Amino acid sequence: MTLNENWFPRAVPAKPSGHYAHLLVLRETTSYAVFQTDGELNTARVNRGRSDAEIMTRLTIFKRKQTTPERLTGRQLLRRHGYLSEQLFDEKAKREADDAGRPICDYNVHFCKQCPDCITYGFAIGDAGSEKSKVITDTAYSLTDYASSHETFTLNAPFEGGTMSREGVVTSRINEADHVKPQVLFPTIITIRDATAPLFRYVLNNVLRTKHYGAQTTRTGGVANHVLAIALTDGEIVSNLKLCQALHDALQPQLRPPDPIDPVAARAAAERLFPDLLRADHVAVDQLLMGDELAAYLADFTAQANSEAGVRALLEAAFADSRRYYETYVKKAARPGKSSG
Ligand SMILES: [Zn+2]
Repeated sequence: MTLNENWFPRAVPAKPSGHYAHLLVLRETTSYAVFQTDGELNTARVNRGRSDAEIMTRLTIFKRKQTTPERLTGRQLLRRHGYLSEQLFDEKAKREADDAGRPICDYNVHFCKQCPDCITYGFAIGDAGSEKSKVITDTAYSLTDYASSHETFTLNAPFEGGTMSREGVVTSRINEADHVKPQVLFPTIITIRDATAPLFRYVLNNVLRTKHYGAQTTRTGGVANHVLAIALTDGEIVSNLKLCQALHDALQPQLRPPDPIDPVAARAAAERLFPDLLRADHVAVDQLLMGDELAAYLADFTAQANSEAGVRALLEAAFADSRRYYETYVKKAARPGKSSG
């Protein structure tokens, strides 16, 4: 059995129609990373587990810090394969497309309203219209506590010769920065609502390809996304916090702080408890793809993503669906004079 792609709507519906495709993803830092606002790592004080009411501080990754790198991954591919213009939007010329007819889509500056990125992840452009995101994510919580999951680096800037003092003067060029350690795990649900099969594949491709998150001036911020399950349901499912706490309970006997958790053990535990969590969510599950069947589906998917022609076919199909939605619903609504007369 593979993913039942017939379950997805043939076209993106105008109104929410109850098609929820969920990815169970274990995000694992693969290098030092920084997920912060205002110079401090983001954290939250929450219960350790579902059955362990002790409070702990967890690292968090806000939803935009998860989706933005994934969006940029997809948008880069759309430009590389010629589906979007490489030009920036010119506020004076206000051109919607370049000479080759490719839409000009400038992230957070001027959304084209028709590419797979605009239609799946949404956009808001003042009174010129908006599109709700069909990719639903939430803050992700670290499985292990803040104390054992971060490290404070003293970033000093020594003098020539590597010394910290010169002629009796000690350098004051010292900075401290908190970093998330490698091999910290963030269990996450990514939900794609009311998307066609090609648009679902577009989002999945972004999740599988994105390897850096957070402040990314260097090659830090490495994250591997392990997709552990795909669930097709008629409603929303477990929150990231509950998922994290349930996984914490399941792994309790193996926790040895400050040691990191074995990602293989965490994956196995997540796979074991996910069906029970789904059953508790009051949703009808059309399909739950896991284990060997999921591995086979992802292997096929990766084989396609490994070839230029395969990627182009994936983008082409996604673009056809986003453009059809644009032509049917977005363009009409944006036509001047239609509503105001
Ligand atoms: Zn766009």
